[in-house]
Amino acid sequence: MINVNDIRADFPILSLQVHGKPLVYLDNGATTQKPLCVIDKIREMYCSVNANVHRGVHFLSQAATDEHEASRRTVQEFIGAASSNEIVFTRGTTEAINLISSSFCREFCKPGDEVIISAMEHHSNIVPWQLQEAISGIKLRILPISDEGEILLEELEKLISSRTKLIAVTHVSNVLGTITPIEKIIETAHRYDIPVLVDAAQSVQHIPVDVQRMDCDFLVFSSHKIYGPTGMGVLYGKEKWLDKLPPYQGGGEMIATVSFEKTTFAGLPFKFEAGTPDYVGSTALATALKYISRIGIENIAKHEQGVLAYATEQLLSIDKLKIYGTSKNKCSVISFLVDGVHHYDMGVLLDTMGIAVRTGHHCAEPLMRRLGVEGTVRASFAVYNTREEVDVLVNGIRRIVKMF
Ligand code: PMP
Repeated sequence: MINVNDIRADFPILSLQVHGKPLVYLDNGATTQKPLCVIDKIREMYCSVNANVHRGVHFLSQAATDEHEASRRTVQEFIGAASSNEIVFTRGTTEAINLISSSFCREFCKPGDEVIISAMEHHSNIVPWQLQEAISGIKLRILPISDEGEILLEELEKLISSRTKLIAVTHVSNVLGTITPIEKIIETAHRYDIPVLVDAAQSVQHIPVDVQRMDCDFLVFSSHKIYGPTGMGVLYGKEKWLDKLPPYQGGGEMIATVSFEKTTFAGLPFKFEAGTPDYVGSTALATALKYISRIGIENIAKHEQGVLAYATEQLLSIDKLKIYGTSKNKCSVISFLVDGVHHYDMGVLLDTMGIAVRTGHHCAEPLMRRLGVEGTVRASFAVYNTREEVDVLVNGIRRIVKMF
């Protein structure tokens, strides 16, 4: 078991007071707080390692390159990839999905070909594909969900056709917390030789993810949601796919040779990393992943499941409160509404009590429409959250309900 008090001591921001009240930070689905080791690593990089990577002969450039490339191997180990060539650094989940949608459609899709996504995707796994509808002429097909917020797996094969080129699905819903049956989706897709992209933005920080066991073709996540710095993300792709895809952006770092007549591209993963990479971000992300590995992702999952179960039970004891997303297969996120209290008012009033939650459509407007709501209040948990904080949230909601 983990010692939450020890973990909380690693996160300086958690001792803040907000509006004169101790901060209760329950907006981890949006971004997580950073442990001191990550903050220290950023400082260390700028104080004693900083130099541009890959092309310098001097000491510092070598040191920065070593740190950056070692970080790639840390990411590789964390998600169980076969090779560090399969790890591409991006600015985040959004950029990683844009990279794949753009390169994949350019190489493999003709007008009328189809890409399947689910009804509970974040906008960043919808809009890049819609851009490709305009650019490449592809068509989006939507895998429906049940009222409980679970993917209707039996609908998948009905949607697959000879035109289906790729399936892109979230691993965990940022609104409902549902853990999708990703292995089954991948197994089905592969029976038809269709590759699968997994949006792991809300899963890698909560549950064990092993890309080889999962057998996904692409997997993407953001550093800032897994205790790492902002502006950094990861695209994992099987080498056999990444090899076939054309570059996404052009510039330095991603070339082998350049002339005005013909340019050739670098090998993996550099072909997809145009320009100076964020070597400070990558090393700080690696530090975050090592921090998590020290605690143990299984221990984190167990702790968060406990907090989630307690929060679900306590919230349901409030009159007229409805939870959206009632799958038994859930992690870390609770979306809810209280009859007669607008989600925005709830968020603002909770804030006056020092409680940070998210309100609104959570970048998932089509899902809101499917649920028949305009928005929800979302509490999302991380390794440092406690049952005592859940009590503060529940008491806060009870006080607000009385005001209305
Ligand atoms: N997918 C999911 C499921 C998410 O929760 C998010 C962030 N809320 C994203 C994609 C986009 O991540 P980012 O903004 O870090 O690129």
